[in-house]
Amino acid sequence: MSTDDIAKMATKYAEIVTVREPRWRATMWHATDLCRHCGMCVLWDERHPLCPNVLKPDQVVLSPQGWGPARNIVAFTGGDVACRAEFYARVAEEIKRECSDLWVLLETNGYGLTPRNLEVLASGGVDSFCLDIKAYREDVYRRLCGTTNKWILEAPKLRVDMGFVLEVLTLYIPGWVELDQIAKIAELVADVDKSIPFTILAFFPEYKLRDVRPPNLYEMVAAYYVAKGKGLENVKLGNIHVFAKSSEDVKLLVSLLEARALG
Ligand code: SF4
Repeated sequence: MSTDDIAKMATKYAEIVTVREPRWRATMWHATDLCRHCGMCVLWDERHPLCPNVLKPDQVVLSPQGWGPARNIVAFTGGDVACRAEFYARVAEEIKRECSDLWVLLETNGYGLTPRNLEVLASGGVDSFCLDIKAYREDVYRRLCGTTNKWILEAPKLRVDMGFVLEVLTLYIPGWVELDQIAKIAELVADVDKSIPFTILAFFPEYKLRDVRPPNLYEMVAAYYVAKGKGLENVKLGNIHVFAKSSEDVKLLVSLLEARALG
């Protein structure tokens, strides 16, 4: 698609937006404050037990990804789109020209976020980044991703200094990325700004890591408290279905954490 095609799609999307977020909430992390994507309020006029109760049913729409609010955010993901900084800077510029109240979010593993690319993306008007830090230890990072994480670990500071909104994700991968590295990543983020939204995702076996087990509920709860212990104020756990498979598990999780901590 051309930048023009994408801007046209974004303009169409702007017509069905049901929730206008301020720029600082242009993150995926904040989406679960609004809705848990069950569709119950639309389909059965009932609320999910963990529904945040902040949306009206007419703000919940059915999209290819399921039920949820249509927020005024256009997000790009896949590989590392930040490696094509000029293209996405142009996309952001054209989207903003058509609809100034849409925020542009890039999901990235950080590889393409060199200082030069960040400047290019800032000049186009990209608003926020969802940075996926796969590992703290460079040897583990290299085994997982085939490259160094040197500038990826420096990216949070650079991005906040440049005025981007930032959220950080990391994965709990048993035997690969456990509490020690999650603590280091949390510390690094807290040193930049304690309010940066931080999500710890549960790994599930796929592709070349099919023999690695997913983390269990207690490991994920421990990871949550490790991140909180580093001073982070906004921590959530993600991929809940991986480690909380029954309603009893979810109840246990809510009793050990708080509903807001479930991403
Ligand atoms: S607002 Fe979201 S979480 Fe609440 S009942 Fe409706 S679809 Fe479910």
